[in-house]
Amino acid sequence: MGSSTPARDGAQRPDGTNYETVLSEDEWRERLSPEEYRVLREAGTEPAYQGEFTNEKRAGSYSCRACGAELFTSETKFDSHCGWPSFYEPLAKDSVVYLEDKSMGSARTEVRCATCGGHLGHVFEGEGFGTPTDQRYCINSISVNFESP
Ligand SMILES: [Zn+2]
Repeated sequence: MGSSTPARDGAQRPDGTNYETVLSEDEWRERLSPEEYRVLREAGTEPAYQGEFTNEKRAGSYSCRACGAELFTSETKFDSHCGWPSFYEPLAKDSVVYLEDKSMGSARTEVRCATCGGHLGHVFEGEGFGTPTDQRYCINSISVNFESP
C-alpha cells in the first residue's frame, strides 16, 4: 500500500463523488511540466522560499495550475514567513477538498483542488497568526497561477 496521491486516487473525491476534470495520468503529464506533475499529481512539495508567489503582494486571484479553477484570492493571503504562499481561507468552502495525510509520521491535512484533485499543499490550524480563521493554507506556488486584474 503506497500513500495516497492524486495520481493514485484518480477520479474520486474523498466523499466518493467524481472530480469534474478527470484526465489520465498520461494526459496530465502532457499538460504539466515534470515539476508541476510531481507536486500536483504526486503530492510533492516545492522547496521553501523558492516558489514564485511566496512574496507576491499584488491584488489578484490564484487558480489551479492543472485545471484553472479559482482557488484563493490575495485578500486572504498573509505573511507567514514559512516559505510558501499562505492563505487563511479558500475562495469558497467547496473550492478545495481535504484528506488526512500521515506520510510524514504525524497527521497533517492535505488540501487538493475540488475540481481536478490536484495537490495544492496542507492546512494547519491554531498557530496563532492572528488571522480571522487561525488557519494557514500552505500552498505550493507551482500548484497555482496568479492573475492580477
Ligand atoms: Zn484543479
